[in-house]
Amino acid sequence: MRITLCGTRGSTPAPGLDYIRYGGHTSCLAFTADGAEVPELILDAGTGIREVTRQLNGGAFRGTIALTHLHWDHVHGLPFFRGGDRDDASVRLLLPAPGGGSDALATLARGMSPPHFPITPNQLRGDWQFSGIEPGLIRLGSLTLLARDIPHKGGRTFGYRVSDGSHSIAYLPDHCPTDLGPGPAGLGAYHDAALELADGVDILMHDSFWYAEDFDPKLTFGHAAAEYAVGLAEAAGAQRVMLLHHRPDRTDTELDKLLDSFHASGVPVTLAADGQVICL
Ligand SMILES: [Zn+2]
Ligand SMILES: [Zn+2]
Repeated sequence: MRITLCGTRGSTPAPGLDYIRYGGHTSCLAFTADGAEVPELILDAGTGIREVTRQLNGGAFRGTIALTHLHWDHVHGLPFFRGGDRDDASVRLLLPAPGGGSDALATLARGMSPPHFPITPNQLRGDWQFSGIEPGLIRLGSLTLLARDIPHKGGRTFGYRVSDGSHSIAYLPDHCPTDLGPGPAGLGAYHDAALELADGVDILMHDSFWYAEDFDPKLTFGHAAAEYAVGLAEAAGAQRVMLLHHRPDRTDTELDKLLDSFHASGVPVTLAADGQVICL
């Protein structure tokens, strides 16, 4: 499969000269299965989803968008996804089932409707279906999507694992493992859901909002430290770590310096950057 990193910034977009190399779009990954021409699976709909339109060769998006959760940085791109907002688009949008009797569309529309935004989700053009899902395994053509509840702050949040049968990645962009205990290094517990998602994956793509040097377990804003991701990868047998959901004020220079601190890690560590393409 081919994975395009369309948005790797966390919290809010980060445009400007200091953010060119790692990029400023918020969360979005696009997956193209082996043998397919264009992406059919998108994880998260941050501002990076605008870049997916370019990968559709002029066609409409026909596939699935799975949201990890409904925070702004994971949904704000949705109405600007031109490949999905056209009459011939066919989109199945999945989000963690909100519970409490709310349906998925109504919950999404709380953040995307007047007066917050001019239109509601079901005014997007094309055939859109909105579904709340529970944790479990979903088959999407030749790809599978495994969803698990993971701790974060402010709303139900999933981590995902995408597999094509021979390769797999885990995606936990917003994760607060200290909610489940300090873990061996004080950076959070290596809990069952995180271990299952990351078990033996080719790449663990993980929240790196914090680094150990600025991490305060009492002031996480729902996020993890990069060093936790490396420890999780080691505990779960992941082959490498790709750090993402970069804090919006971390410049290219600062991120380069932070990456240097991982040169002796037990697993290879890289930083995700907008526009990067990974073939597995
Ligand atoms: Zn986020
Ligand atoms: Zn979040």
